[in-house]
This record gives sequence, C-alpha cells and structure tokens, in this order.
Amino acid sequence: MDDRDGKIWMDGELVDWRDAKIHVLTHTLHYGCGAFEGVRAYKTAQGTAIFRLREHTQRLLNSAKILRMPMRFGLEALEDAQKAVVRENQLESGYLRPLIWIGSEKLGVSPKGNTVHAMVAAWPWGAYLGEEGMQRGIRVKTSSYTRHHVNITMTQAKTVSNYTNSILANMEATDDGYDEALLLDAAGFVSEGAGENIFVIKDGVVYTPDLSAGALNGITRNTIFHICQDLGLELVQKRITRDEVYICDEAFFTGTAAEVTPIRELDRVTLGCGARGPITEKIQAAFFDIVNGRNEKYAHWLTLV
Ligand code: PMP
Repeated sequence: MDDRDGKIWMDGELVDWRDAKIHVLTHTLHYGCGAFEGVRAYKTAQGTAIFRLREHTQRLLNSAKILRMPMRFGLEALEDAQKAVVRENQLESGYLRPLIWIGSEKLGVSPKGNTVHAMVAAWPWGAYLGEEGMQRGIRVKTSSYTRHHVNITMTQAKTVSNYTNSILANMEATDDGYDEALLLDAAGFVSEGAGENIFVIKDGVVYTPDLSAGALNGITRNTIFHICQDLGLELVQKRITRDEVYICDEAFFTGTAAEVTPIRELDRVTLGCGARGPITEKIQAAFFDIVNGRNEKYAHWLTLV
C-alpha cells in the first residue's frame, strides 16, 4: 500500500505517496494515542462528492479534544485537505483516511512536549464486507472479546487504540469462518460490530443500541435515523440482548466502510428469512440514493471536490 503513485496530505503539504513517512519513535506508534476518520467519496451526476464531510471532520476534531491533542489545523483546513486529496488522486469514488498522531520528539507515557500531526490519504475501495454480502447478507459471530466500557479509552473518540479490540474480535470471527464479529458491552448487551453499528428489525420497528453500550456514534447510523423517518419507520434506541438478535426479523450493520450490510446469521442462528430482509433492502436502497446524489433532500450532505 505504501508503494504507489499519488499524493498524501501531510501537515499542510501534498507529498508523494512513497515519501509520506514518519519516524519509528513516533509516540502514537508506541502508546496508541491517536485518532482517525473513515470517510467516503461517491460518484454523483454533479461529479465526485464527499459524503458528510463536515460531520466526519467535526468528529475528528472531537476525538482530538477528548484525547487532549492540540490541533494545528481547524475544520476548514481539514475539509480542504480531504477535497484536495480526492482531487489530486483523481478518484471518482473512494475511501478517505484522515489521521492525527503525536510526533517523535520524546517518548514516555506523557505526550507533553511532542508535536501533533495530521494526514489524509484516499484510495479506491469497494464493498468492505464484499459485494455478495451486500446482496445476500453476512455471517456474524458474537465475540468472546468485550467492547470497551465507556470509561476506558473513550468510546465517542475514534481512537487508534480502540481498534486493538476490533482487530482481535474481527480476527477471531474470521478465523472461525465468519465474516465479522458482534461485540457485547461489559454488561453483556449488544454494542456494535468490529467496525460497524448494528440495527435489528422486529415487527416493523427498527432498533439500535443506545450509545451507553459503548458503540461509536456512527455517522451512517445517524443517516439511517433520517432514512427511517423518511420511510415512516419507527426507530428505537435501547439496550438489546444477544437473544433479541437471534429472534429478530432482519438485521444489518452500518458504517462508512460497510455502508448498509445485511446480516443473515449470528452464531449459526439464521436471522429472519436468512437473506437480506425487505425493510433492510428499502433502507439500503435509500442509503445508496442519498450517497450517490439521487435524493435532493440530502444534497447538502455531499461536498463536491
Ligand atoms: N463502530 C465502529 C467501531 C467503527 O469503526 C465504525 C466505522 N467508523 C462505525 C461504528 C460506524 O461509524 P460511521 O458510520 O461513522 O463510519
């Protein structure tokens, strides 16, 4: 991934992809205090546009605030950087990765005295959990790893270190032949996937865990709230148990990378009809209309590059 043509934005400059390097004594590499975003750009009739750029950039700044990382770049500079990276790499659509990290001036747990840095890269990226999964639904395993408690590494920050938990859960699930992991919170209630929020549908009502279960406040999750309202679907945020998922009619994951991915199985228990359910299909179609610029109501969520 490091050996290709293109440009990466680093601390205010567009640098050649191969030259976008940092030192091995980088503080974040040793102690994991850093934050990132995952953002997508879509091809629309008006041109390439970044979906909910403002919300992603604001979440990055919120993550920096939670982690007490003083940022040199503000909202507009980081938005401009993301647009520039999509443009410079001539992407019609793709995935953007902004990241902030602590520099290499000194080690030791305290980051004080170190500089804070920012970068943005972007590359083409198709369906995160596979094209087939988008159509047929994926197979998920309840993880043996517990999701972060809300008072551990801060669950509303999209921190680098939170993803060790995601990696362990995802590797366990995929090693066992599943597509993705579902993590429960410290009290045993459903939290989220390794990199996705979860929704379940029962008797026509759409449910998702409230954020006290330690799930990230997903921007796609919020998009689904709007879609449910448009489709006249009741949306309830509440504590959800593992067995409520077993007996739901439909379930799906959401995320910038995962978009809207149906879940057809949890722990070898078939969910609903064992395929993408009819309400999930409607929500998924509405989602792709919005991100691809086919729904005027949400044109303001698309920033042309
Ligand atoms: N939870 C986790 C752990 C994630 O990594 C992601 C992806 N950023 C999400 C939820 C979904 O968030 P979003 O819709 O903002 O991408």
